[in-house]
Amino acid sequence: MTVDASNALLRWYVVDKRPLPWRAQGEERPDPYRVWLSEIMLQQTTVAAVRPYFQKFTGRWPTVEALAAAEEAEVMSAWAGLGYYARARNLIACARTVAAAGGAFPDDEAELRKLPGIGRYTAAAISAIAFGRRAVVVDSNVERVVSRLFAVKRELPAAREEIYALAGSITPERQCGDFAQAMMDLGATVCTPRDPSCGICPLADSCAAREEGDPQLYPLKAARSRRPHKQGNAFWLQNDGHVLLVRRPAKGMLGGMLGLPTGEWGPDVAPRQGAPAAADWQEAGAVDHVFTHFALNMRLYCAEAQRREAEGSWWPVERLSEAGLPTLFVKLAERGAAWRSAA
Ligand code: SF4
Repeated sequence: MTVDASNALLRWYVVDKRPLPWRAQGEERPDPYRVWLSEIMLQQTTVAAVRPYFQKFTGRWPTVEALAAAEEAEVMSAWAGLGYYARARNLIACARTVAAAGGAFPDDEAELRKLPGIGRYTAAAISAIAFGRRAVVVDSNVERVVSRLFAVKRELPAAREEIYALAGSITPERQCGDFAQAMMDLGATVCTPRDPSCGICPLADSCAAREEGDPQLYPLKAARSRRPHKQGNAFWLQNDGHVLLVRRPAKGMLGGMLGLPTGEWGPDVAPRQGAPAAADWQEAGAVDHVFTHFALNMRLYCAEAQRREAEGSWWPVERLSEAGLPTLFVKLAERGAAWRSAA
């Protein structure tokens, strides 16, 4: 890509950039705390899903010190529904590390990568966007744009390092943050996965895939292996308008989150395995949920407890929406509440 093309992209960005709440609002550079928070939230999640969470978090915890001082359970509950809960645990750990060191995020990629939850992409994004340092920023949008610009013939994921090197070859020395965000926005709004709008693209004259005639072919991808299936049992144990919730172990799937008690999750789990108490368990259907690495089919068993002996917190059923349950348990709780109404 020539200097002219890079300038054309930056000019396009000035006019067409997406108005995102974590971007600079008048000041030259955005607040590193807001950049960091948005980048952690955006990992594996869409801009539309992140927006309300970002507003909620910055309203409640406007600085990294405020977030560092928050109760872990409160932060996990505010994160509920955004998924990939290891990110929330790392978020708290990172905020506490930064606050303990004086409250300033480092501007250097290598130093940023030492912080919990910050990998190569996030370190580069914070360094470029919040501090204006030269860094090669490659998210899935940039990956697509670069693979098309250079018509990369190797398949993903093997092509990842080649694409990273090519992205490095076109990253300018100056205005690095704007360049990174311009590439991301171009991928999100013009060079989209299907039907890229090459006719209005500021990089059209430099694009090898466009010249070949079928840019949608890129990035080439190796055939996906099928997600494995797992099974599990969840338990709705109620007593006098309350239902038993347990906090999941800190490590593992949905770690640290409140949920209904469950048994093991595996390829072949026996019915009622893992029940939190002896009771007259009745089947109440099942819920399907897809995680990144496997698909889960969770059977639900419901029962009335004579006494509140089982360990956990007994939560008022009418206030379950305030419990901050992750999506899997929201779906299961809806079934449990329907069973309760029908019983
Ligand atoms: S010309 Fe088309 S394929 Fe190439 S970068 Fe622009 S939108 Fe993407």
